[in-house]
Amino acid sequence: MSDQQKISPSSNNQGSGSRKPRFNFNLYWIYALIAIIFIGMQLYSSFRSSIKEINKNEFIAMMRELDVQTITIVNNEYAEITILPDRLSKEKYASVREKSLGGENPGPHFRYNIGSPQLFDTEIKDLWSEYPETRNVEIRNETRKNLFGDLLGWLIPIGLMVLVWIFIMRRMSGGGFGGQIFNIGKSKAKLFDKDTHVLVTFDNVAGLDEAKVELKEIVDFLKSPKKYTDLGAKIPKGALLVGSPGTGKTLLAKAIAGEAKVPFFSLSGSDFVEMFVGVGASRVRDLFRQAKEKAPAIIFIDEIDAIGRARGRSVAQGANDERENTLNQLLTEMDGFEANTGVIILAATNRADILDKALLRPGRFDRQIYIDLPDLVGRKAIFKVHMKPLTRLDQSVDVELLAKQTPGFSGADIANVCNEAALIAARKNKQSISREDFNDAIDRVIGGLEKKSKVIAPKEKRTIAYHEAGHATVSWLLEHASPLVKVTIIPRGQSLGAAWYLPEERQITTSEQLIDEICAALGGRAAEQLEFGKVSTGALSDLEKVTKQAYAMITVYGLNERIGNLSYYDSTGQSDYAITKPYSEKTAEIIDEEVKKLIEACYQRSLQVLADNKGKLDKLAARLLEREILYREDLVEIFGERPWPNSDHPETLTEDKPSSATLPE
Ligand code: ADP
Ligand code: ZN
Repeated sequence: MSDQQKISPSSNNQGSGSRKPRFNFNLYWIYALIAIIFIGMQLYSSFRSSIKEINKNEFIAMMRELDVQTITIVNNEYAEITILPDRLSKEKYASVREKSLGGENPGPHFRYNIGSPQLFDTEIKDLWSEYPETRNVEIRNETRKNLFGDLLGWLIPIGLMVLVWIFIMRRMSGGGFGGQIFNIGKSKAKLFDKDTHVLVTFDNVAGLDEAKVELKEIVDFLKSPKKYTDLGAKIPKGALLVGSPGTGKTLLAKAIAGEAKVPFFSLSGSDFVEMFVGVGASRVRDLFRQAKEKAPAIIFIDEIDAIGRARGRSVAQGANDERENTLNQLLTEMDGFEANTGVIILAATNRADILDKALLRPGRFDRQIYIDLPDLVGRKAIFKVHMKPLTRLDQSVDVELLAKQTPGFSGADIANVCNEAALIAARKNKQSISREDFNDAIDRVIGGLEKKSKVIAPKEKRTIAYHEAGHATVSWLLEHASPLVKVTIIPRGQSLGAAWYLPEERQITTSEQLIDEICAALGGRAAEQLEFGKVSTGALSDLEKVTKQAYAMITVYGLNERIGNLSYYDSTGQSDYAITKPYSEKTAEIIDEEVKKLIEACYQRSLQVLADNKGKLDKLAARLLEREILYREDLVEIFGERPWPNSDHPETLTEDKPSSATLPE
């Protein structure tokens, strides 16, 4: 998650300093032009047809009566006929005698479509032989250039092409007209500077102390560079923030800008990428030029993997030269400026392993700052930061407990929980936010909204109850599986039922733990098999999880005896295993065999555990059907306390990593 909008209220007027006022080119001008052209065409053709058209009989009659003065054949297409002035007084010419605007009409008076010149020739010759006097009528040939029409013939296709082109440009660069065309090679970075205060400081970032120490040094350099340069020290040009989404990388970068009070250019890696060749590289150049003008400054590139992916890897998917050019330009720019120019580049990614090695060389992003998902202490601190704006908190809210209930949550998830809790309380028209609101919010963030209205047939409900009870029973009775916190058969989001566990926070997982977890995941299907003698499709996500886990145990973690201490994982991301497997066909067969064996063994074990405790399983399922939500206490009542210490009480949850987070109070 990299949402600058959320952090800075001033982001609406970002960019005000980075762009020159644009030439105000309006689409309406084009509409107006088109309208004028069409109206012109209309007028022109009506002008042409204002000369009355006559048919063959009328023409022959005119000739026979010797009314015609001249015939002008235009472009071999039609003839314009002028009547003798003295004959105009005839009754039948009344309609053409005068011009439409008044005054005598000197002609031409009529228009006659000749069909083809040959046809007209024979017509005239016939007339001549029949009425010899008609030979005196003057016949002229004329070629007229229809300037306007010709021009239109050119203009319309060109105009259409221009319109289409403009439309495509607008589509690709999103919003804004005209300016986008002229600015396509300009960097899209948003600038935050004195005028657009960045209000985030390190106080807004909870935990992450090690990262903060490193970054404070950068702030210090930007504030007083002399201190460092006097000693001949070179400050790193860039730092790479590596961590899962939502762990606060963007927030940290903002905090640096807020603390150092220097201009802050923020953009995402994908902002460089455009369909046109050379645009990315030119945007990089423009970005660095702007930053150098404003130095000291910070450039923050979010999701740098969009351009920094290792080069020459994507051949199979069609090489992306444009991306490589952009990356090369970035590398060149980073080499190009001296370490002391005062421009520091921060970049964020959640996949440092796939980045091009050249980016990580000394002199570029030589500092890598790892940002983990927050641990217990970190989560507590983040809860405190995000609870601050919630003014009316109930006494019942226990930050410590909330932090324990949310293992694996990122900072963004926690921010979301706090906001969601306030929304839930408001929806219930409550005066303050209580513990239940937070619990509901956590459930909701994990599993989506409860769908109480979803109608489920009683028979299906029984299946779901046994399925969930199976998960709960197996995980409760196996030592290394995560103990249950809560189980429900209320449909929620995509799922029909769910069980919440309290996983131990651990850095290393043993194979017993993995196997017990597979058993617990299979517990749902095993319970269905045991009770109904048949299985349903409801175990899809369980099976998916189990299959992935089993393959990982064997091919990644080296936990299988037959395969041995091998890992086919490639942390560099350089090879594409989707296409070529790093092992032989024979090994592939063994892997498949072993995976099958492992999962089957786990399934039998789950079945055994459930069969041994069938009475308790029935009781649990019945209670689940009746109450829909069950908690730890209900399981204790049915099964008794778990005999293994340290894993079933949330209170005794142990954290392996010492952390010295200072809690902002
Ligand atoms: P990332 O860039 O790592 O994906 P963000 O920096 O965009 O994540 O984090 C998203 C939101 O999560 C932030 O706006 C903030 O509200 C919250 N958050 C994440 N980590 C922390 C933290 N350590 N302290 C306080 N809030 C945090
Ligand atoms: Zn299940």
